Amino acid sequence: MSAQEAARRQLIAALTPIVGERYVLHRPEELLLYEYDGSALDQATPDVVVVPASTEEVAACLREAWQRGVPVVARGAGTGLAGGSVAERGGLVVSLARMNRVLSVDPLARTAVVQPGVVNVDLSVAAAPYGLHFAPDPSSQRSSTIGGNVAANAGGPHCLKYGVTAAHVLAATLVLADGSVLRVGGAVPDAPGYDLLGVVVGSEGTLGIVTEVMVRLTPNPEAVHTFLAIFDEMDGASAAVSAIIAAGIVPAALEMLVGEGIAAVEAAVRAGYPTDARAVLLIEIDGLREDLADQARRIAEHCTAHGARELRAAADEEQRQRLWAGRKGALAACARIAPHYHIQDGVVPRSRLPELLRFTEEVARRHRITVVNIFHAGDGNLHPLLLFDLREPGVRERAIAAGEEILRACVEAGGSISGEHGIGIEKRDYLAWIFGAADLEAFAQLRAVFDPAGQMNPCKLLPMGSSCADIQQARGALRAVAQGAWI
Ligand SMILES: Cc1cc2nc3c(=O)[nH]c(=O)nc-3n(C[C@H](O)[C@H](O)[C@H](O)COP(=O)(O)OP(=O)(O)OC[C@H]3O[C@@H](n4cnc5c(N)ncnc54)[C@H](O)[C@@H]3O)c2cc1C
Repeated sequence: MSAQEAARRQLIAALTPIVGERYVLHRPEELLLYEYDGSALDQATPDVVVVPASTEEVAACLREAWQRGVPVVARGAGTGLAGGSVAERGGLVVSLARMNRVLSVDPLARTAVVQPGVVNVDLSVAAAPYGLHFAPDPSSQRSSTIGGNVAANAGGPHCLKYGVTAAHVLAATLVLADGSVLRVGGAVPDAPGYDLLGVVVGSEGTLGIVTEVMVRLTPNPEAVHTFLAIFDEMDGASAAVSAIIAAGIVPAALEMLVGEGIAAVEAAVRAGYPTDARAVLLIEIDGLREDLADQARRIAEHCTAHGARELRAAADEEQRQRLWAGRKGALAACARIAPHYHIQDGVVPRSRLPELLRFTEEVARRHRITVVNIFHAGDGNLHPLLLFDLREPGVRERAIAAGEEILRACVEAGGSISGEHGIGIEKRDYLAWIFGAADLEAFAQLRAVFDPAGQMNPCKLLPMGSSCADIQQARGALRAVAQGAWI
């Protein structure tokens, strides 16, 4: 038996008394399910998956991994789009699937305490009897978890008005690599001292595993208006987005669908989208009933002034839900065009949207790949969805090259490489485009404070040099290699 296999068996034996045999997964057919996340391009098999049921169990599992130098990767629902929950270096995947309870809802304080494996939409369902909801609503909200949302600092259509996940997290419990437990943040705002909660949100599982979260809940609005603005020209739709925001109107959501994606969505969902349009804006405004009529009128004026040929309002809640089902089901709908995708997450100043959208189409043409743009236009968060069939030789490399060109253009336009999906594996080496060596070194040092051995989600989030080999060699995490075991 190889040293690696012997070490794996020892780890299985150590984890079993902690969580029970049923929740230590190690057979090839069990590990298969944990090989990938929502991105098509990153895949790796973990050595062992453990499914703990409490903070104490997570801590005990991490202590075992720590003593053995085993890399640890936290996993929520695995819907991430940057390879974040893929165990690129093997090791232990900690699935939070069993920690899926809403522990309490406090309607007076408008807060809830939840375990990390709670599915995003289930939290809003639990808060609904109190007229409250959890505002961050990634399009994956029917499957992605609060822990994953916190780790990725997820956004969503309604984050334009309400802010991304970071704005809705008050406190978190974090199990560190060595199994110690840290509580960051608190119910009371503006706590003195360093903002460790701010560091933890968006850290993509590289600092520890979030095992409990206190979140802010948002009152449901008194009234909601949802409508589609339909355009024959893509540039007109982009210009309308800029004009609406520049006029001081902040819609609850301002989403854009372009080209082939509209027809794919309509074919899959029958949401009521016009299949002959070049672009549509899905616009939602919410608030006090008396304010909405005026806002709707002003938005309609801006759309018409920029060439909208028609505005269609949702007549009732059922129509509104159908329009949203179209938008939120868009990624799945595009499987009708091609079986695989590589989605980018660049952000640009809104005024640069028209040129960037044209650029994505030009890049896709050059790389002989279909591109569909369905994205959070209101905050300039582009999601060029590159569609292809991985069975075609060379297409993987062409898709990566096309994605890289698009992200470079976003950065050159004054934007960034990620609006909400995180960095993960896919974009770790692009980080050096937007941060200097001193910044990256500071990030690496910060990470090492939480995880000196670099065992938590190794080689993610930071460029390979600063996050992976350098840190681990410098701080001795490779001791397992010396013993012929992990990493
Ligand atoms: C169809 C579709 C639509 C999407 N739409 C959006 C969108 O609108 N907005 C958006 O922001 N994203 C979107 N995403 C991306 C994805 O859903 C989000 O990043 C989501 O937050 C990931 O949650 P998850 O539970 O699936 O986490 P995973 O994919 O399992 O993990 C994501 C990252 O978080 C870490 N992690 C997970 N749980 C924990 C924990 N408890 N403690 C510490 N680290 C942890 C993982 O290690 C990994 O690095 C979409 C994805 C899909 C497939």
